[in-house]
Amino acid sequence: MKVFITARLPDQVLEKIAREHCFEAHGEDPPIERKKLLTSIEDKDGLLCTITDLIDEELLERARGLKIIANNGVGFDHIDVRAATRRGIPVTNTPGVLTDSTADLTFALILATARRVVEGDRMTRCGDFKFWAPLHFLGHDVSGKTLGIVGFGRIGKAVARRAAGFDMKVIYYSRTRLAVDEEEGLGVAFAALDELLRVSDFVSLHVPLGRETLHLIGAAELGTMKSSAHLINTARGPIVDEAALVEALRTGRIRAAGLDVYENEPRLSPGLSELENVVVLPHVGSATVETRTRMALMAVDNLLAGLRGERPPNCINSDMLGCRN
Ligand code: NAP
Repeated sequence: MKVFITARLPDQVLEKIAREHCFEAHGEDPPIERKKLLTSIEDKDGLLCTITDLIDEELLERARGLKIIANNGVGFDHIDVRAATRRGIPVTNTPGVLTDSTADLTFALILATARRVVEGDRMTRCGDFKFWAPLHFLGHDVSGKTLGIVGFGRIGKAVARRAAGFDMKVIYYSRTRLAVDEEEGLGVAFAALDELLRVSDFVSLHVPLGRETLHLIGAAELGTMKSSAHLINTARGPIVDEAALVEALRTGRIRAAGLDVYENEPRLSPGLSELENVVVLPHVGSATVETRTRMALMAVDNLLAGLRGERPPNCINSDMLGCRN
């Protein structure tokens, strides 16, 4: 069968596909142009895509022979899953294999914003480290502080486990509340979103992007947070109203932010990059050699299962498609 791959992937991954099928790949890092994607998909049976590809009605209309959409990532807000389901196409993602690397990066942002790591690096490099002094270049403690986790799934829980090592008090808000024994096991307590925002020193976002979570954090929510609070977002940019965040950081409404994702990625809202109290990363939550390899191998396993007509291991829409085995 014919497969289209929208991004550059490790050789071992491509070899695995080539053993069973023909493939065509956009073998460059800058994302494939929309026009090229629309024409490339027309005669394909399988699609291996990433977050930068919009998989919508228009594309699916062109892809009449498509049997599987295998996403190389856990978030699937760029895919119209309903439209794929209407056409009987399974959609898959790569859950779990990127949990630890994304939780690690979340902690890197917590520590970087609290201890002014990036600002300090900039200052030292340009020769402005002239002396040590008791009150010079102070940051704030992470240890012992309250961490509020919004979205308590795989990554949210992995962040909580890391926070235990810093003796942090962890509270969480999520759609589904955990059983009490699970809460006790993890040493966490549930809080309503309002309450979490009001009492947390660090607020870390781990919900998926969807209609319900678009601008979940806007001016009103930022206004509820402590003026000493830090907002960390390694989930998806549009969960935060970025213009409101810039204003909150500029006016000192909150103290700092650590961001890996942006509302209009890869563009940043005006004013964001000029602020000293924000650490900005280029969407690298899962970007380690080990994790990106595991993700691509998982995406390929899903792809190959879909092409064989089997239910892929990580099918997002299997309930909606019914049992296809
Ligand atoms: P997950 O296991 O599905 O966890 C998401 C959690 O959010 C679940 O507990 C879910 O509740 C909860 N939730 C969903 N909708 C909600 C709502 N409207 N209000 C409150 N809680 C809600 O997903 P994950 O693997 O932890 O990944 C989370 C997100 O991180 C992904 O969707 C992706 O966008 C992002 N991500 C980013 C990077 C990066 O490179 N920066 C890397 C990996 C992932 P239920 O238990 O009820 O479903």
